[in-house]
Amino acid sequence: MIKVDVLIIGAGAAGLMCAANAGYRGRSVCVLDHANKAGKKILMSGGGRCNFTNTDASPQHFLSANPHFCISALKRYTPYHFMELVDRHGLAYVEKTSGQFFCQHSAKDLLNILLTEADWAGAEIKLNTQINKIDYQDQGALVMTNQGVFDCESLVIATGGLSIPTMGATGFGYEAAKQVGHNILPTRASLVPITLQPERKAQLGLLSGISCDIAAIANGVSFQEPMLFTHRGVSGPAILQITNFWQPGEELTINLIPDMTLDELIKVRQDSPKKGYESVLSAVLPKRVVELIKQQFIWLDQRSAQISNAQVETLFHFLSNFDIAPNGTEGYRTAEVTLGGVDTQEVSSKTFESQKQKGLYFIGEVLDVTGWLGGYNFQWAWSSGYCAGQYV
Ligand SMILES: Cc1cc2nc3c(=O)[nH]c(=O)nc-3n(C[C@H](O)[C@H](O)[C@H](O)COP(=O)(O)OP(=O)(O)OC[C@H]3O[C@@H](n4cnc5c(N)ncnc54)[C@H](O)[C@@H]3O)c2cc1C
Repeated sequence: MIKVDVLIIGAGAAGLMCAANAGYRGRSVCVLDHANKAGKKILMSGGGRCNFTNTDASPQHFLSANPHFCISALKRYTPYHFMELVDRHGLAYVEKTSGQFFCQHSAKDLLNILLTEADWAGAEIKLNTQINKIDYQDQGALVMTNQGVFDCESLVIATGGLSIPTMGATGFGYEAAKQVGHNILPTRASLVPITLQPERKAQLGLLSGISCDIAAIANGVSFQEPMLFTHRGVSGPAILQITNFWQPGEELTINLIPDMTLDELIKVRQDSPKKGYESVLSAVLPKRVVELIKQQFIWLDQRSAQISNAQVETLFHFLSNFDIAPNGTEGYRTAEVTLGGVDTQEVSSKTFESQKQKGLYFIGEVLDVTGWLGGYNFQWAWSSGYCAGQYV
């Protein structure tokens, strides 16, 4: 029997953050992970450079059935606290889009900081560890593994969500929560590319690799960012963002000309009668996209003076509600996050302790808290990991 004060299951972003902070408080800490490497998602995130925070992070950038839950932790451990930590370690980073911070060289540099912190705090990390069973006690638990039985006062579940099973994602956290009667809110792959109906996929697949600035709109929420055509469907920031708000079967609007009004488009006829609409569209859309539109609007290369208002109106509606014929998403295989999870109504927003089982804690993505694209999800891992680390 191996006795520790704090046993953390999951050596990802939240688990490592919690390990270091609990260790610095003098608690004996062990982190278990079934993977052969800690922080695999950190390494693959942000195209290998990890968008590790967003200085704009505030509760409105997070989705949860209980939107107040994240407020306290985000206040107690802010993006600036995390920036201060990485500055102390001399991490080289860059701000890409406003507020989004990435490692300048490699996500490995960030993972090394977390591993160094855990090491300095005396936390032990055991990889390749299969968890076979949890026996909850009055306070804490006995955890049966292929590396022996662990007896802990505090058990922290930091096993993340279901996205990218090949990177070690499992539903373990949900099962561990259910075992003591926790409610699990329905889960769904999110921040994920959208797939298209076969015929449309074949047509738009010809544009694979092309990106254009669009507005994606669903359920009253709009993101104006780039969309990328791929050979499987559509991706890019605007599409990933909208999947936090859109589900297959619901209405999704793709506006290819988000900065143009119908009046502006009609005015071209009066202001520049010799100009063709092809050149107007070419100023805001990639050439190959304009060519595709031209297959349907063969008059695009004619002088605008020859075009009627009704024709311009039809073109405007076609572009501002461009039919991509979505039929689903790529699912957990490529999703960045999982929506839903452990119901936060039954977890303390101060300590992250379960209200069902003394000494049991949930942090990070396993909880029903999901951020937008742009560094928010890691910030949630740091904030929840840090805060739980003060109490476990
Ligand atoms: C491709 C990709 C890119 C991303 N890019 C970004 C980004 O740039 N910025 C951002 O903010 N977010 C990004 N995210 C989201 C971010 O990675 C997650 O939100 C974050 O890692 C969640 O942290 P976590 O500690 O809760 O879970 P994880 O980091 O997923 O860690 C969970 C750990 O638990 C372990 N585990 C799971 N099941 C078991 C089990 N049964 N037994 C033992 N161990 C187990 C796993 O092996 C893993 O190490 C990205 C995600 C993906 C998939």
